Amino acid sequence: MRIGIIGAGQLGQMLGFAARDLGVHCTFVDPASNPPAAVCGDVMQSAFDDPEALTQLAADSDVITYEFENVPVEALQLIGAETPVYPPAAALQQAQDRLTEKRLFESLDIPLPGYHAVDSRDDLQAAAESLGLPMVIKTRRFGYDGKGQFVVRHTADLDAAWETLGTHPLIAEQWVEFDYEVSCIGARNVDGDIVIYPLGRNEHRDGILRTSITPLNQPQLVATASDYVERMLEHLQYVGVLALELFVVADRLLANEFAPRVHNSGHWSIEGSETSQFENHLRAILNMPLGPTTSRGHAGMINLIGEIPAATRRLDIGALHDYGKAPRPGRKLGHVTVTADLAERRDELVGIIDKTVT
Ligand code: AMP
Repeated sequence: MRIGIIGAGQLGQMLGFAARDLGVHCTFVDPASNPPAAVCGDVMQSAFDDPEALTQLAADSDVITYEFENVPVEALQLIGAETPVYPPAAALQQAQDRLTEKRLFESLDIPLPGYHAVDSRDDLQAAAESLGLPMVIKTRRFGYDGKGQFVVRHTADLDAAWETLGTHPLIAEQWVEFDYEVSCIGARNVDGDIVIYPLGRNEHRDGILRTSITPLNQPQLVATASDYVERMLEHLQYVGVLALELFVVADRLLANEFAPRVHNSGHWSIEGSETSQFENHLRAILNMPLGPTTSRGHAGMINLIGEIPAATRRLDIGALHDYGKAPRPGRKLGHVTVTADLAERRDELVGIIDKTVT
């Protein structure tokens, strides 16, 4: 089988490694000259929306998938007529716009923070009045890792928020004083079989995921989150891996956003699960039986951002994944996953690694 993957970053690289184990060949499309996934497949160097490159990719592939969310939906629809594209373009379309994403949660009875669409300075004022402060203003499209966001704490901040982001379609969200954040990852194959991974607890710093630990021993939250993800997978007639990020507030879950792709908060599954999210994504889109998502002990993942310190490399207590990217502040360069028989030991190991990273 041959898979075409749009994007050849670290997610593409990890998909490529999983594909190799399944005996599947990958071709990537990416504008970068030597992207991370070049080590595990062919790369067509081209813009993500170049019709010629995408048509070529579709002709050379049995199925197409993508590793990042800003692929133009129209481009996927174009090639989808020839070659199956998974996850479905309609799911990507909903995820690309925070407003449609929130309406999707509402339509599926998945609770979420209060929100208000903002297209004018008057809307911003109305949002502050209806949601109360603090609230966070986000661009509806093309935001990631906390980029394109502005927290409004006082009415006096409204002008600055508008000046910073007002040229984009926006959404205002109630600020949630959450206890912590979790993500629930599920996969559905072409036949409609579904598997759900154990719930992971995430910590973000400066808007970027820093650590994920799993499994979370909170049966009621696990059942609720799994139910929400199943509703989404069924409703979207989804194929592939989907990640839903949620805020935990006491015993409630509020949906923040979903990603129609393999997700950073699921990297632990390479070492910490019977089947990694990458393998199950491939199994799903190739309509193979999905692999078990049972935990292999207690896993913790620490992102390596901006640099991979020598001290982290010297530690021999986890699996270090170096994506081979040039260091740059705020850039995800790699991650380490630790596993242990006991949650306490896992937390200790995460703490040791965390101390070596900035
Ligand atoms: P996002 O890009 O929407 O995932 O936001 C990045 C991070 O900012 C989240 O993981 C949270 O830590 C924080 N955040 C986003 N929205 C809210 C909110 N409405 N209330 C509190 N924190 C938020």
